[in-house]
Amino acid sequence: MLKIDIKPIALLSLAALVSFQCLAFDIIAHRGASGYLPEHTLAATTMAFAQQPDYIEQDLVITSDGELVVLHDIHLETVTNVATMFPDRHREDGRFYALDFTLAELRSLTVHERTDSQGKQVYANRYQGEGQFKVATFTEHLSTIRSLNATTGESVGLYSEIKSPAWHREQGIDISKAVLKVLRAHNLDDAAANIYIQCFDFEEIKRLRQELGARVKLIQLIAENSWNETPTNYDALKTVAGMQELTQYVQGIGPWLGHVTRYEQGQPTTELTDWMMAAQQAGLLIHPYTFRLDALPPGISAEQLLMLMVKKWQFDGVFTDQVPPVKRFLQSQ
Ligand code: CA
Repeated sequence: MLKIDIKPIALLSLAALVSFQCLAFDIIAHRGASGYLPEHTLAATTMAFAQQPDYIEQDLVITSDGELVVLHDIHLETVTNVATMFPDRHREDGRFYALDFTLAELRSLTVHERTDSQGKQVYANRYQGEGQFKVATFTEHLSTIRSLNATTGESVGLYSEIKSPAWHREQGIDISKAVLKVLRAHNLDDAAANIYIQCFDFEEIKRLRQELGARVKLIQLIAENSWNETPTNYDALKTVAGMQELTQYVQGIGPWLGHVTRYEQGQPTTELTDWMMAAQQAGLLIHPYTFRLDALPPGISAEQLLMLMVKKWQFDGVFTDQVPPVKRFLQSQ
């Protein structure tokens, strides 16, 4: 009797293992739980942690006194009340730069839902409350995630982005060195550490590996040249040869979902581009950005998109503003 009992259990375990391996798909909480609370605040990070993603994202910019803070932009006015608090501290272009403020000054601001240049909330149905949220440092985010991992027994990783390194350099700041200093202080500049570093700037990715000796896992983010995100020529990168060159420096790529969900005569197609297939064949991880329930690509449902990313294209993960629906989808498969 014992033998008969053991056999089905062993088979069940094997089936569970195979199914788990097929669905090795990492969920990256984009700007924390940004679908529910103002992006990149410690509240958004702790809420994201409770939703149990594989990674939580931090975008990194630097203050005038050299502190790394977690903010998506080098500008402040679309997510804080800086224009009210410091009305005269904008540059000639009318914009308020995190780099022109000390950490103490940034801490005096409140962070709100992202707004457009007219002050209108970008995602109209997101957070509507009146909570007071604050700017926090990279170290505060990092230590919070580490502490929560320790107290809960989870192993949620970090997924940190070096923002606008060329711009920071023009301003006399080496942001990559500052990021590596924090990583090394926490023993995170290691290929085995539970963290990825991402950057849109290919020259900076090369510099991180070659000149600065970074050992941490790196992800090359892919933009469009028209966005003027960095000096990188993305048309040259989005080729079979470009993907092959990337394998010398990075573990994976972060393409835009618009690169992935292509359209023919207004209809989404389910075929990947040659360069995306080349990336997969070269063994690069594919972590596209950004799955948003409230801003899906046209003509495709959330479930269809998840089905394509997980099952058909077999991507390795996705950045998402809403972790729970992606988790539910994975658990249902
Ligand atoms: Ca980012």
